[in-house]
Amino acid sequence: MPAEKYKAVIGLEVHAQLNTSTKIFCACRSEYGGEPNTRTCPVCLGLPGALPVLNREAVLKCIRLGLALDCEISFASIFARKNYFYPDCPKNYQISMYDRPLCENGSIDIEADNNKRRIGIERIHLEDDAGKLLHEKGDISNIDFNRSGVPLVEIVTAPDIGSAAEAAAFLRSLRQYVRYLGICDGDLEKGSLRCDVNISLMLRGARELGTRTEIKNLNSFKAVRSGIEFEIERQSSLLDAGKPITQVTQLWDEGEKKLVAMRGKEEAHDYRYFPEPDLPPLIVDDRFVAEAAADMPELPGVKKQRFIDEYGLSEYDAGVLTVEKELADYFESLVTETSDPESSCKWVMREILGQLKDTGITIAEFSLSPRMTGELLILVKEGVINLQAAGAVFSEMLSSGEAACDIVKRMGLEQISSSEELGKMVDEVIAGHKEEVVRYQDGNLQLLGFFIGEAMKMSRGKANPGILNELFKLRLHRRD
Ligand code: ADP
Ligand code: MG
Ligand code: ZN
Repeated sequence: MPAEKYKAVIGLEVHAQLNTSTKIFCACRSEYGGEPNTRTCPVCLGLPGALPVLNREAVLKCIRLGLALDCEISFASIFARKNYFYPDCPKNYQISMYDRPLCENGSIDIEADNNKRRIGIERIHLEDDAGKLLHEKGDISNIDFNRSGVPLVEIVTAPDIGSAAEAAAFLRSLRQYVRYLGICDGDLEKGSLRCDVNISLMLRGARELGTRTEIKNLNSFKAVRSGIEFEIERQSSLLDAGKPITQVTQLWDEGEKKLVAMRGKEEAHDYRYFPEPDLPPLIVDDRFVAEAAADMPELPGVKKQRFIDEYGLSEYDAGVLTVEKELADYFESLVTETSDPESSCKWVMREILGQLKDTGITIAEFSLSPRMTGELLILVKEGVINLQAAGAVFSEMLSSGEAACDIVKRMGLEQISSSEELGKMVDEVIAGHKEEVVRYQDGNLQLLGFFIGEAMKMSRGKANPGILNELFKLRLHRRD
């Protein structure tokens, strides 16, 4: 197997659009969308003589990300011009950072294929986004400059990633961070998070890195995985055939499931980087870093561990409940209502996540507040209804918006817990299933579930299953 013979070496360059209210170097709105070319000005159109002014909010958000990923924040960083000629770039250069980025030497811990790994982050820097080419029918292309000048952070990893699964895990974790920090919506399809992948192979045990290629245009998790897997295959076939790897940049075509060579790789000197003369060095003092740190939320890993320690959740449940901050917040509010982490966790994991999946909505759009859901769980805890009825009440709450206790009253779902009433049902079930009773008493104890089910049916789902369980055990006990 080629995959055994070679070790894959992967580094990612991820661009995240910052959700600042205005663009990075001008006062135009930076929000996604809008009629083409309605959010532009001389600065983001690259008109001669227009001067950039740095957006403070973009710097704060970039530093917040750097702090969250354990980076060192540079006291003085320098914007640099990256020169290239392309119609979506009206200045003919991008304002980026080159040898003095804002954040350096961080890391993200990931888990993939049951393996925990630490992935180094070489740098995070600020830059401006380009406009968007709109390819019309025939040979016409239009350009929308609304996106031109939207702030981007570029996150560059060390070549520490070893597989497609690890790359996807890294990207998932990074997306979780930017969402927790509230600095980017992390939407790959919409392009607010964009991932370029660098890949090379080396013989297992070799010391020197192989020649790498780059893949762009990977705009879903699926595309990231398939693109990497295809490229590993392609490179290993070439190496097996004794052919050299040439440095290329390829595009992933998700429709055709193939890689398309785009251009030879450009080198840093092709861009003729030089310090941006229209912007002074960016000086970040301790006070500014403290300001960025001040509204730092509890980060995903810390929250997950706290859920395990404080609420006794399993690692798996804690992981799922903290994927999104809003879901974690919902769970915690629910625990405040019920004082019962276990049943709250179960209910969110099974019922609420199931509901979100079925309807394709997010927890923020979910119609029942933690208070309303909490009332339902309290009815179960206090024995007013059983779990089966709770499912029915929950569906009814979702469609009618009524409070749980009103639905329970209206539908007459109060649990039957009177042993007298339940005893009658138990006797009736025993009398009606003589054969099963004999088998049970001969040792087929699994039949207990069947008896309980029969009595439950008789009660139209309202019987208290715990009490049924006790009564059956008592009355079926062989007295010989
Ligand atoms: P460039 O300036 O050409 O973009 P960088 O040094 O910034 O190159 O590296 C870009 C990305 O490529 C980083 O994520 C880095 O980890 C990764 N990378 C560097 N060398 C290799 C290699 N031999 N194989 C795979 N990835 C690599
Ligand atoms: Mg680069
Ligand atoms: Zn502008």
